[in-house]
Amino acid sequence: MYDALVIGSGMGGLGTALFLAKAGMKVLVLEKNRQFGGALQIFSRDKQILDTGVHYVGSLGKDEALGRYFRYFGIYDKLDFVQMDTDVYDRVCFRDEAPVHFAQGFEHHADVLSERFPHKHREIHAYVKMLAEMPEQFPFFSFRPGETDPLANPYSGKNAFAYIYEMTVGDMPLTRALFGAGILYDLRPQSTSLYTHGIIMGSYIRSAWRFKKGGAQIARQMIRAGREMGVEYRNYAEVSEILTDSDGVTGVKLNDGEVIPARRIISNIHPHSTLDLLKENRFMRSSYIERVHNLPDSLGCFSAQFVMQPEALPYENFNTYYTRSGGLPVYEKDGFPNTMGIFPSLDEDAQAYTRVLNVMTYMHPDETAAWNKTFRTEPHYTESRGAEYEDFKSSKEEAIVQALEELYPGFGAGVQNVYSSTSLTFRDYLGSPDGSLYGILQDSASPASSLFSPRTKVPGLFLTGQNLNLHGILGVSISSAVTAAAILGQEWMASEMRSV
Ligand SMILES: Cc1cc2nc3c(=O)[nH]c(=O)nc-3n(C[C@H](O)[C@H](O)[C@H](O)COP(=O)(O)OP(=O)(O)OC[C@H]3O[C@@H](n4cnc5c(N)ncnc54)[C@H](O)[C@@H]3O)c2cc1C
Repeated sequence: MYDALVIGSGMGGLGTALFLAKAGMKVLVLEKNRQFGGALQIFSRDKQILDTGVHYVGSLGKDEALGRYFRYFGIYDKLDFVQMDTDVYDRVCFRDEAPVHFAQGFEHHADVLSERFPHKHREIHAYVKMLAEMPEQFPFFSFRPGETDPLANPYSGKNAFAYIYEMTVGDMPLTRALFGAGILYDLRPQSTSLYTHGIIMGSYIRSAWRFKKGGAQIARQMIRAGREMGVEYRNYAEVSEILTDSDGVTGVKLNDGEVIPARRIISNIHPHSTLDLLKENRFMRSSYIERVHNLPDSLGCFSAQFVMQPEALPYENFNTYYTRSGGLPVYEKDGFPNTMGIFPSLDEDAQAYTRVLNVMTYMHPDETAAWNKTFRTEPHYTESRGAEYEDFKSSKEEAIVQALEELYPGFGAGVQNVYSSTSLTFRDYLGSPDGSLYGILQDSASPASSLFSPRTKVPGLFLTGQNLNLHGILGVSISSAVTAAAILGQEWMASEMRSV
């Protein structure tokens, strides 16, 4: 019998499996798809590798947070990645305005920003100092002892927009620029917490990195490391039910009826989906289940991936965030695409041209409601989504090309092919109910309602992944440590963390 079953092979599930295996547990990871890795999955078109959900990561220096997690997992030296341009890893553009450059290194970042907004030199340095200091207070980020209860986190209850607007003394152009990469965390001026904004922005300012030939290598190496420690991985293994008795979990049932017993289950999937798998509700009040189901999700994504003709688009070792309205980079119903994240792919060192440009924009789930009953992954495959869906996607692709022409004149002429995905694609490949980008939306006004603990009310059932702490590869690596600490104890985790 397994000591633990992990439902889902996203980075959070893979990380938790490794922690448990290091403590000597016999672990099985169950993944519904053919490919492991969740948002780390890649696909290939026109002989190019296309990433689905990871374009760059922060804090991957050897002694920085993600670097330390990857060293602990034993994968650091096996990955192929390069540091992005230290003077500009992200370029933030608003239409008809000079771009704002985000540089790596806190002092350097503040200096570069201050050149663009010299009248706010003091405020910028104070903001950057806050970003540098914030993660030091969290043991799973700093690898030093400290408070681990997410509800005790003072930054979760602070609204990022209000804080920064006040800090910049109401300087809207600067405030807007500081939120320029807001699609990275589904910026909502009313509810985004300073924790979400600060940890994500700070992690990239510390250092920013791109993977050569895509991020799937992270999942591959995690699985290789896990197998060496005896972890087993099964694909095409969709869990259809979490089984319980009066003492807690007893195992899972797979879609084909197979039952796998275990007294410990770690769910790496969306909390709504986790609750749906508990067909017999012995441990939770229906009011709790209803409350979780009513928590709003982050928005979905329309992703367009342009395969470029050779030598058509010079490679830039930075990303661009482009907002075309005069306002904040938030979702707007009209004027698609209002805000975009633009990520060139990297194949080799010092490459002169990029062959793949990834563009990410917001998508509201209502836009694809007409096709909600169609599924494109096993075992739920239905008929194709049809010509209207393809037309719908093509019109979005064309609008994105028009918008990109504003940044890269002549862009359209260099496109060889374009492939696009909607929230439904993400729903099918990641299993999140609405295909949301980052799972449940966190709310600074009531952090307790949207923050999940790794422990659930069902004995033996734990949560991990992006809904626990924070999304992103760093966020879910931290989640995997938080979950493992809940199972193995804080003392055990503290001693493991001291080892890296
Ligand atoms: C478009 C996009 C771009 C992004 N860009 C970046 C970026 O540049 N940098 C960054 O750091 N982060 C980025 N992120 C965020 C990051 O990829 C995610 O936060 C993170 O990978 C989520 O990991 P996870 O462990 O929570 O699980 P997920 O990756 O969501 O994986 C969950 C897994 O569970 C499986 N599953 C679901 N239901 C079942 C079931 N019933 N039985 C078995 N298996 C099941 C799914 O198939 C999936 O493999 C991006 C996300 C998206 C969507």
